[in-house]
Amino acid sequence: MTTETIESFSELGLSENILKAVTEMGFEKPSPIQAQGIPAVMQGSDVIGQAQTGTGKTAAFGIPVLERIDPTNNAVQAVILCPTRELAVQVSEEIGRLAKYLRGVRIEAIYGGDSIDRQIRSLKKGVHIVVGTPGRVMDHMERKTLRFDQVRMMVLDEADEMLDMGFREDIESILADMPEDRQTILFSATMSKPIMSITKRFQTDPILIKVVRNELTNVNIEQVYFEVKPQAKVEVMTRLIDMHHLKSLLVFCNTKRKVDEIVEDLQLRGYASEGIHGDLRQQQRSNVMSKFKAGVTTILVATDVAARGIDVSGLDGVINYDIPLDEEYYVHRIGRTGRAGMSGKAFSLVARDEKYRLKSIEGYTKVKIEKGVIPSFEDIIGVRKARFVESISSSIKEEEDQDFYNDVLEMLHHSGFTTEQVVGAMAKQIMGVQKNEYSDGNLAWEERRGDRDGGRREGGDRFERRSSGGSRFERGGDRGGDRRGADRYAPAGRSDSRRSEGGGRDGDSRKPSAVEAGMTRLFLSLGRKDHIMPKDIVGAIAGEANIPGKTIGAIDIYDKFTFVDVPERDARAVLRAMDGNTIKGKPVQIDIAK
Ligand code: ADP
Ligand code: MG
Repeated sequence: MTTETIESFSELGLSENILKAVTEMGFEKPSPIQAQGIPAVMQGSDVIGQAQTGTGKTAAFGIPVLERIDPTNNAVQAVILCPTRELAVQVSEEIGRLAKYLRGVRIEAIYGGDSIDRQIRSLKKGVHIVVGTPGRVMDHMERKTLRFDQVRMMVLDEADEMLDMGFREDIESILADMPEDRQTILFSATMSKPIMSITKRFQTDPILIKVVRNELTNVNIEQVYFEVKPQAKVEVMTRLIDMHHLKSLLVFCNTKRKVDEIVEDLQLRGYASEGIHGDLRQQQRSNVMSKFKAGVTTILVATDVAARGIDVSGLDGVINYDIPLDEEYYVHRIGRTGRAGMSGKAFSLVARDEKYRLKSIEGYTKVKIEKGVIPSFEDIIGVRKARFVESISSSIKEEEDQDFYNDVLEMLHHSGFTTEQVVGAMAKQIMGVQKNEYSDGNLAWEERRGDRDGGRREGGDRFERRSSGGSRFERGGDRGGDRRGADRYAPAGRSDSRRSEGGGRDGDSRKPSAVEAGMTRLFLSLGRKDHIMPKDIVGAIAGEANIPGKTIGAIDIYDKFTFVDVPERDARAVLRAMDGNTIKGKPVQIDIAK
């Protein structure tokens, strides 16, 4: 019997009661890892199963484990280890559903953070299947509240991640404490060398099942890449989120540090975002996950390993903030969207030095990833307007009892505003975008090619010009008599291009210019009247927040306040260091510029 020919669970020789539960769960057909894994585990062999996340590995071991339990023997017969509390709960729930029609099979989830006394009481009553995290299972083993002498099956789920999280010693002690003739089963999305060494020590003639992904790249996934400067990635990402109205999305990056940075950046921009990576404690992890599942958080930023095994469905899209180092990771990542017949989007943000990795991914997946055009600021405004009009229209149509607010317009009229002014201000507030913070031309890295050809365009790469020595700040714009205007100081070499963005000399041109990609504009409560000079500001910020002075960007000094641009990644540090601090002996309030 080859597994391709297996069309239904009934061909796998399962008991009636399991089949009934499987049908009730809506499973039509065993997935490839199930078609191969279930018979192998049922016949009692040691098994190594590898298949990507979301392919149904839980049922692949859960079904045969249930089939092999003897409910009349009141002892622990199977132990399933999972890397996190969240996964332990997920797995025990899935197995619980599969066991719905089996009489007398008891399953218990055992993990840290839960009351150990309660767990001890449950274990005393008699449990057949323990699903737990290695640390807590060890704990019970040492207290002798969990006995392994009748264990016949041991499953390591997401084995790679467990090793990654440092559970190797615990796993080895647990395995060493079990009867030798037990069956050892190991499932994982990836297989590393340390895993293979565990299998050598603790398994006997294992059957290796590796599901080659022929559904490798799901046809429902729209794969697009964007050429983006590294420092403009968050900006481009938020434009894509706005443009495509992504309400539930996973953002992947390669390092834990990046996860924290991106989350902070997105939060500063008002996006409901949270991160998940290996350093989080289980409690934090499950908080993050439950908020994401409830839709309170719309963007989950994760490393590859941390996202492993998390069962989140209904994603609108996946964004590869960086291009993964391993081609397989790309496949795992984008496989998280476009599930179950829904369409999904997979966007990859490619810096210049990541382009070759994208090429090798295309070679590996044999799918061409289309190059996309970064939405312009106008595009974003356009979609926000359309959505605003739509939401206002539907809210008017609802025509609930709105008497509460009927007099608001009248009150504003009394204060001297026209209806147009009121609506305009509300639209601005609700849509959230008030000015173009980033110049469209400064997001993609192909711009530099234009530079090389002699066709120098607006913007350019400020980080390179900065190091060009000379006097740090040049005075820009002549102040004339207009005291409302700002004195602009831009890093040397920048003042011309800066001013050219503003246009002519009328009052309007004195509005602060666009913030460059990768920079955040801060508002300081001190200005000309406080006799503040650029060097005071640079000195204070650089000294207090401990960032290099040369990374500080344009400074616009007005009468009573000042705008200063700092690198986005330092914005938090600057806020923390400067708030309530003083410049030239004067107390300063500092905030992200609105
Ligand atoms: P993995 O462990 O491989 O990441 P899971 O076991 O968590 O995958 O399964 C992912 C989801 O797919 C779960 O919601 C599960 O109920 C569902 N599922 C599993 N097997 C099938 C199947 N044969 N048909 C449909 N859905 C399935
Ligand atoms: Mg799993």
